[in-house]
Amino acid sequence: MTTPHIALLGLGLIGSSLGHAFKRHGLASGIRGYARSRETREAALEIGCVDSIHESATAAVHDADVIFLNVPLSAIRPLVTEIMPALKSGAIITDVGSVKASVIDAIMPILREDVYFVPGHPIAGTEQSGPYAGFAELFEGRWCILTPSSETNLHAIEMVAGLWRAIGSDVEFMEPHHHDLVLAITSHLPHLIAYNIVGTAADLEADTRSEVIKYSASGFRDFTRIAASDPVMWRDIFVQNKDAVLEMLGRFTEDLTALQRAIRHDDGETLENMFRRTRAIRKSVIEAGQDVSLPDFGRGQVAPK
Ligand code: NAP
Repeated sequence: MTTPHIALLGLGLIGSSLGHAFKRHGLASGIRGYARSRETREAALEIGCVDSIHESATAAVHDADVIFLNVPLSAIRPLVTEIMPALKSGAIITDVGSVKASVIDAIMPILREDVYFVPGHPIAGTEQSGPYAGFAELFEGRWCILTPSSETNLHAIEMVAGLWRAIGSDVEFMEPHHHDLVLAITSHLPHLIAYNIVGTAADLEADTRSEVIKYSASGFRDFTRIAASDPVMWRDIFVQNKDAVLEMLGRFTEDLTALQRAIRHDDGETLENMFRRTRAIRKSVIEAGQDVSLPDFGRGQVAPK
């Protein structure tokens, strides 16, 4: 793989982490960055996740071989429309958006014939945002799902897959709609449930609410971590993965109603069977290296009283 000139458009958690990781592994002949706000541009220079910073996306993509789109889903199409005339022939665009079919639908109609697009999604992140939240190890040992079509240029796929592998990710290929369905149940629905339970608690009477915070270590605080995720990013995910989320939400609601019935009818056996099944799934997650087996997610001694 030749060492590419990389442009990072969007320098929040994902964009800055990519910059740190590419630099650490010496994977780019240069990294040009663009962010919308001056504040983020200055931060990116200060933390050194890019070699140069630019006030416009078109200036940042000048001479770039690979362009990473690291902005919220709703910002992708306007950004691609803006940079398209400025891209050099043979340039490869890739993205990190959490939904794939809608991004492909947005980009393919405006893609030039001599420019390639390889859709991607790193299954890595935290509930924090912005350039200071980024770190080089974010993608190590994590999956990165690529969803190119059978028409996508092979050299472009190899280039993008090679970069992800070089920063420690395991690359998997998937059909875009299948990706969206899998992520709806593994990521999008858990976030919706967390937003909902934290919202319900927030609506309780003031006295009860203070007790919710006080006794939050009994389970609630794990939901609050997820519910602290970026509001714009998650607004876009639910709007753009509507069908898959509604499908999974339908199944979830049916299963919840079954649990409700079991509680109402003192059906302890149904509850216990269900909880045994879910405990086994936690074990599989740990065995797959997707979490640690330490109690309380390894918070241990540092956990607040
Ligand atoms: P982030 O930390 O909030 O950073 C977003 C970046 O996009 C910032 O540089 C922001 O610029 C820029 N931006 C926001 N709105 C824009 C607009 N309308 N036009 C141009 N630039 C805009 O977000 P992130 O967590 O890195 O997420 C970026 C992408 O990664 C999203 O598409 C998300 O779906 C995907 N993703 C996120 C995670 C995760 O866990 N966070 C995981 C996998 C994939 P300013 O700072 O100047 O405002």
